[in-house]
This record gives sequence, structure tokens and C-alpha cells, in this order.
Amino acid sequence: MIDKFARSLLLTELLSGMSLTLRYMFKRPVTIDYPYEKGPLSPRFRGEHALRRYANGEERCIACKLCEAICPAQAITIEAEVRDDGSRRTTRYDIDMTKCIYCGFCEEACPVDAIVEGPNFEYATETHEELLYNKNKLLANGERWETEIAGRLAADAPYR
Ligand code: SF4
Ligand code: SF4
Repeated sequence: MIDKFARSLLLTELLSGMSLTLRYMFKRPVTIDYPYEKGPLSPRFRGEHALRRYANGEERCIACKLCEAICPAQAITIEAEVRDDGSRRTTRYDIDMTKCIYCGFCEEACPVDAIVEGPNFEYATETHEELLYNKNKLLANGERWETEIAGRLAADAPYR
């Protein structure tokens, strides 16, 4: 009781708290000013999906449907057709991002590095519908993030 009274009277807890604050004022901050600053991302980060093209603009995807078959969440829907030149390409490539569990199996299964999970993690939406991605949206993501994705795949190549 006396101890408690003495501590209240001498404001020791207040002073020790203020000294702690003072010490941390001169240390390097451990927080960052998101979204203006961003922390480093692992090359293996699995973010928003993207469909990639070759440098000549041709779609990489050959519509083998391995990604669709392996997806444990059944989030991918593909329809395909054979072109006049005999190559097979998708006519529909949808991912329901609200079903996706970001396991990365689709990327691992793809024989031509067409479907990948890119570095983008800022794609929150206000509606469910905005997260139902179609082929155009996925190809647009591929064009937007190609430099980062190609760099990440190259860095990860020895471990694949
Ligand atoms: S990351 Fe996994 S759950 Fe998401 S689409 Fe690919 S395979 Fe399906
Ligand atoms: S994205 Fe890859 S795994 Fe999926 S259908 Fe196209 S080529 Fe096959």
C-alpha cells in the first residue's frame, strides 16, 4: 500500500514510460508509411493472377487445362478451340478469385509459365463481381506486371 502510494506520489511509472518514449524517438522506426512506402516482397510471393504472353505478343497458354484440373478450389474455368493453324487456344479463361486459396498449384502445373501469381496484392474490391476475373483481365494483368514476373521467375528458376 505504501509502495503504491509512493509510486503514485513520485510519478515513477509516468516517468519510466516517458523515458521509454524518449529512447524510441531516436531509434530507427520499425513501421513503414504504407501505402506510400512498401516493404520487400519475397520472389515466391503469391499475389494476383496474371496470364502471360510471349515477347511477340502470342498468348503463352496452350489450353492444356492442367491448371483447371489441379486447382483444389475449382476456381478456374477454361474453354478452348483449335485455331486454323492447328494451335489450341482458350476462348474462355476465368478465375473466381473469391474461391482461390493462393496455393500456387496452377502456376506449378503450367508447362509454359502462362498462368502465374504476380506481385500485386492491392486489388481489394467493393463487390464480388469485380473478383470474377476473365481472360481479358488476366491478360491485362500479365501485360502490366510482366517485368516483375519475368524477374521473379528468373530468380526462382534454380529452385524449380
Ligand atoms: S492458386 Fe490454387 S486455388 Fe488459386 S486458382 Fe491457382 S490452383 Fe486454384
Ligand atoms: S495456363 Fe498453363 S496449365 Fe493452364 S491451360 Fe494454359 S497452358 Fe495449360
